Amino acid sequence: MTIDHVVLGAGLMGRLLSLSLARQGARVRLIDAHGPDAAHSAARAAAAMLAPLAESAITELPVVRMGLHGLTRWPQLLQGLPQPVFFQQAGTLILWHRQDHAEAQRFERLIRRTHAALPELAAPRALHGAEWQAMAPDLARRFAQALHLPQEGQLDNRQLLDALLQALQEAGVELHWQQAVGATDEPALRALMGPGVRLIDCRGLGARVAWSQLRGVRGEVLRLYAPEVQLPCPTRLIHPRYPIYIAPKEQGLFVVGATEIESEDLSPTSVRSALELLSACYTVDPGFAEARILEMSTQARPTLPDNLPRLRVLAPDILQINGLYRHGYMISPAVHDAALEWLNTGQSELAQTWGLL
Ligand SMILES: Cc1cc2nc3c(=O)[nH]c(=O)nc-3n(C[C@H](O)[C@H](O)[C@H](O)COP(=O)(O)OP(=O)(O)OC[C@H]3O[C@@H](n4cnc5c(N)ncnc54)[C@H](O)[C@@H]3O)c2cc1C
Repeated sequence: MTIDHVVLGAGLMGRLLSLSLARQGARVRLIDAHGPDAAHSAARAAAAMLAPLAESAITELPVVRMGLHGLTRWPQLLQGLPQPVFFQQAGTLILWHRQDHAEAQRFERLIRRTHAALPELAAPRALHGAEWQAMAPDLARRFAQALHLPQEGQLDNRQLLDALLQALQEAGVELHWQQAVGATDEPALRALMGPGVRLIDCRGLGARVAWSQLRGVRGEVLRLYAPEVQLPCPTRLIHPRYPIYIAPKEQGLFVVGATEIESEDLSPTSVRSALELLSACYTVDPGFAEARILEMSTQARPTLPDNLPRLRVLAPDILQINGLYRHGYMISPAVHDAALEWLNTGQSELAQTWGLL
């Protein structure tokens, strides 16, 4: 088979784009430094929360807009996959302890400001009394009130990566594992291409050699099995150091994260982080005391100096995608649509609108 596209990196962006290109009739070679389980990608470690309004407390409006786009695009993207992927759009709950009330008020002010700027986002709702008790009776016993951001969602990232892998195989994408590509600049990338071939670089943090200012932001995540705990949707606890979330997936699985540390150290989870994450769970629901710790993982989020994502056109036939930071799942449908538009037409209004180019 004569290849016409080479994609570097089979993490989140590499898998999504390779599949769409192959389904459009392109002949795609996808190369990754590691194996098909994506064990060394940020994509595998993530909690895959799709929370544009909650994240607006720490990010810019274009990212929030991309997140909003993602909420409508994910169901369409998932529908075309050969395996089911857990996707839920039941909102995000925000909780706080009495001592963090001032911080909770600050958070609420920030997200109400975002809502005023982007009224197409569903408004945050204060929950208390009978409505709150009906929605989450266990939580209502410990927290007198909460905020609900009704539009937000989440998916199961590992189910997604597996489903994408199967779809790539079925679409005939040429998959090359355990091949680290160290190319730093255009001539080195061109050596991988051949005449008439286009290259898309989605190496995430592995593309540090090609993006001098790319950095990793360490995140630690726990996976717990707690079949007795019931949370209606991803739940964030206002915390003085970082927003801790507990995302209920299927079959008693909870993903708890994430620390946010300016470091590329990928060594195992520290005792301090584990204590903070676990005690946050316990204060949200003491039922977590009997949870089983399935996994503690550490990864780094690929991040540019302004913490914003970028499409970089190195040459008319070379596109580089990076800087998805802590929002990869939330914004990848938007980044995917903009990149595909650029690949198909040589320009992208979507990318201009979202400030990606
Ligand atoms: C702890 C944590 C929690 C997160 N939680 C969320 C969340 O709740 N919601 C959300 O929206 N986002 C979240 N994210 C962010 C999201 O996971 C990332 O933004 C996203 O995975 C970035 O996608 P990517 O394709 O650019 O990089 P990756 O997914 O990291 O993929 C890069 C791929 O490139 C490969 N590669 C690396 N170097 C080379 C090389 N030299 N040659 C070939 N291949 C190479 C890697 O093996 C990997 O498969 C989280 C991230 C972390 C770390």
